[in-house]
Amino acid sequence: MAVKPQLGLIGLGTMGAALALNIAEKGFPIAVWNRTASVTRRFHSAAGALAERIVPAETLADLVAAMAAPRAIILMVPAGEAVDAQLSALAPLLGPQDLVIDAGNANFHDTDRRAAAGWPFRFMGIGVSGGEAGARHGPAIMAGGKPEDWARMAPVLRAIAARAEDGTPCADHMGEGGAGHFVKMVHNGIEYADMQMIAEVYGIMRDGLAMAAPEIAPVFARWNEGVLRSYLVEISAAVAAARDPVTGGPMLDMIVDAAGQKGTGRWTAIEAQHLGAPIPVIEAAVMARNVSARRAERAAGEALYGPAPEPAVVPLEDLEQALIAGKILCYAQGFAMMRAAAESFGWALDMPAIARVWRAGCIIRSAMLNDMAEALAEDPGRNLILAPFFANTLRRGLPALRRVVAAGALHGLGLPALSAGLAWFDMMRTARGTADMIQAQRDYFGLHGFQRRDGLDRPHGPWAEG
Ligand code: NDP
Repeated sequence: MAVKPQLGLIGLGTMGAALALNIAEKGFPIAVWNRTASVTRRFHSAAGALAERIVPAETLADLVAAMAAPRAIILMVPAGEAVDAQLSALAPLLGPQDLVIDAGNANFHDTDRRAAAGWPFRFMGIGVSGGEAGARHGPAIMAGGKPEDWARMAPVLRAIAARAEDGTPCADHMGEGGAGHFVKMVHNGIEYADMQMIAEVYGIMRDGLAMAAPEIAPVFARWNEGVLRSYLVEISAAVAAARDPVTGGPMLDMIVDAAGQKGTGRWTAIEAQHLGAPIPVIEAAVMARNVSARRAERAAGEALYGPAPEPAVVPLEDLEQALIAGKILCYAQGFAMMRAAAESFGWALDMPAIARVWRAGCIIRSAMLNDMAEALAEDPGRNLILAPFFANTLRRGLPALRRVVAAGALHGLGLPALSAGLAWFDMMRTARGTADMIQAQRDYFGLHGFQRRDGLDRPHGPWAEG
């Protein structure tokens, strides 16, 4: 290659290899290096016509030498120690105008720490969503870092990103430091919640309505034609329709009901607690994955208490409406959490821009994000449940959500995410809640004081006098 590339990539695993091919395909020459050199060679020889834009390097020093300054090197290695090790290894090789971009799933606190660490090079942390296919053909990209570094990388990141239906690239600058990884973390939390709510309505169809997986598949497929149009509903239809190549029966029926997790949903729940931001649907989804792992206890529970009471009778139309309502409630919570984070961490998070970035490329991409982007653009500080468009949708969906949650309770079908969304909504629509009792109790045992509704300055109750 005549011209040395200014772009480089470290870590040719699932995501890094796909991203490097995507970058080369969009016309950018790129140098690549992998810890295990045979992987680099294999990658290069399998790159076909794109190989001519890819410079394979045997060592880290070779990678840097193969590039022209100012360099921009993307790290696609496991989050945590591997990132710190690579940054340290690059430190003696790079100059002050070179830029290192951590594109893995870093915890945003680590990204904040690394951004402030005083490396001899520039540093950004970007969140990339969409799995391998996204990385190869167009992910959603949530970038953090200095605006000037975003400006430098934007042409590449926009070129490789997914495009929304209106043609806008799904890559944007979220804010400084860990802002990009924070937004990616909330994305993953919402992903957990979306998946859990879909699993809950699947459970009602399977256990409440005694529908077999091949009967459930067309229901999801039909929903995917309407308000619920989304990647996750689309793949739910596909997995429900799939046949097990071994037994010939439904694939779903052969899969153990214990969900794994890499922890980004848990991080979202933990950060929400730190921020005092209620995200009960996401928290319920994390909890549900943890309960799913306790198979032996669940089996013992069923043996002791018997199977659930008689099957639930819930119209499919109610399930669709409940899922629509639950989804709106979950996203309302997620955006409110990001507003709390923006305030707490001093980030100028642009809510409509976040909704727009999520419209394509990422796992939670859905038609509804168009409407969310519009509602957030009208008033970025307003909770989504107060936006007229979503208030109308919720008024339609809530009666169904109530019937579904009630049916779950009556018939012994656990619906933690849908129930949590409904409970949160009912609190959010109640001007006089029940925390007067909590305040009175706190004052009774701890003299914590309270505010009176009439504004009088009498901050304690008559308990001591009684
Ligand atoms: P893989 O396990 O497929 O690849 C990991 C890569 O990192 C390999 O190239 C490996 O090299 C290299 N590596 C591992 N440890 C070190 C180290 N200590 N020093 C240098 N290189 C190292 O991971 P993925 O591609 O799936 O994930 C990469 C990042 O992207 C992670 O942060 C992940 O969370 C994130 N991510 C993953 C998504 C996915 O769907 N898989 C989606 C979005 C983000 P070697 O060949 O030598 O082992």
